[in-house]
Amino acid sequence: EHFLARIRALNGALNAVITVTEEQALAQADAADARIAAGEAGPLTGIPLLHKDLFCTDGVRTSCGSRMLDNFAAPYDAGVVERLREAGMVMLGKTNMDEFAMGSSNENSFYGPVRNPWDTERVPGGSSGGSAAAVAARLAPAATGTDTGGSIRQPAALTGVTGIKPTYGRVSRWGMVAFASSLDQGGVFARTAEDCALVLGAMAGFDPRDSTSIEREVPDYAAGLNADLDGLRIGLPREYFGEGLDAGIAAAVEAATDTFRALGAEVREISLPNTHLAVPAYYVVAPAECSSNLSRFDGVRYGYRCEHPKDLTDLYERSRGEGFGPEVQRRIMVGTYALSAGYYDAYYLKAQRVRRLISGDFSSAFADVDLILGPTTPGTAFRIGEKSDDPVSMYLSDIYTVAVNLAGLPGMSVPAGFVEGLPVGLQIIGNYFEEGRMLNAAHRFQ
Ligand code: GLN
Repeated sequence: EHFLARIRALNGALNAVITVTEEQALAQADAADARIAAGEAGPLTGIPLLHKDLFCTDGVRTSCGSRMLDNFAAPYDAGVVERLREAGMVMLGKTNMDEFAMGSSNENSFYGPVRNPWDTERVPGGSSGGSAAAVAARLAPAATGTDTGGSIRQPAALTGVTGIKPTYGRVSRWGMVAFASSLDQGGVFARTAEDCALVLGAMAGFDPRDSTSIEREVPDYAAGLNADLDGLRIGLPREYFGEGLDAGIAAAVEAATDTFRALGAEVREISLPNTHLAVPAYYVVAPAECSSNLSRFDGVRYGYRCEHPKDLTDLYERSRGEGFGPEVQRRIMVGTYALSAGYYDAYYLKAQRVRRLISGDFSSAFADVDLILGPTTPGTAFRIGEKSDDPVSMYLSDIYTVAVNLAGLPGMSVPAGFVEGLPVGLQIIGNYFEEGRMLNAAHRFQ
């Protein structure tokens, strides 16, 4: 009731939550009370949360921030939704997001932009901006998100919360509407690494319904939070501190490394030489996969259908033309072009080769260090409208996040201070399945 009241009071100014499932939430809370009374409670029993509106929720609208799915109520729960419900968490509703998770500012939603609670004239980041803003404004203690190129870490940084994107394959993608399937990965936002550890522990694990899900035991992340950092080897990639990085953010990250040194870590400079290729490679691979994934929205099976189509071609053209917003259409065009006969080798295949080089950079780095630290974003939250006419400058706000997705590695963003009253995020990147080590470092830092 406390969080539902906060949503009622504050969401008007933020537009972070687009569906509130009040009745269902109160019923789940009653069930949680009964479990607590019966002595059957786990650590998450009765803890409220919000889901990003691309996780399918049985009988509840799952819009993906798009007119295309404005009328779509999923017929089942996503794997993640199911697991968190079984852990006793109470779903309060669904959060606003960039349409089909394409964006870095949450200005691309059919339901209007999300506003940053620290300054409502500014963006919260994207695409999981509704989840980040909701946690930052304490509309919920935790919220799910997805990260294809930074959509958990970047909004976590811009709103001053903690967010973790686990290793690709760690969390089920079943029932998570696909944007770029080889990059998409679900994760969580919360105030602290400790809260993230609890929720991630409940979300993660093998799901046979997702063919890329990995069969591997989930460690008790919460149990490892207080481990000593003595001798932990931390690498600072030289390429993450060059031109384009805000000086205040650089100083905040430097101050964070001093804290890690004081906690016993050894900090050294490393190199990820192909960093400059990450944004161009990502913006070929992600649109290519999106153009394929989004071909299912044809106005026939489900979702938006135009009125009075003349014939089948008109039905496809107008349903997709009216149902998808401009950024989604831009990505479909770019992706279709990159995959077309004659251009495939020059763009898609080449981008996949670059992707391999980028993974190689990380493998070499992790031969010498345990964790990589750097900024999450080049700047703090920008003004609504500031970058909306310039897709390339918008894409560059992902410069420190997309490489992690191309490599399939886990990454997180942890609050690391403020520049001119706006939050700064410290990015922590781990080797495959090292979420526990990252959460431990983040917890000790916090
Ligand atoms: N900002 C990136 C994009 O627009 C990443 C989005 C995401 O991670 N879903 O594609």
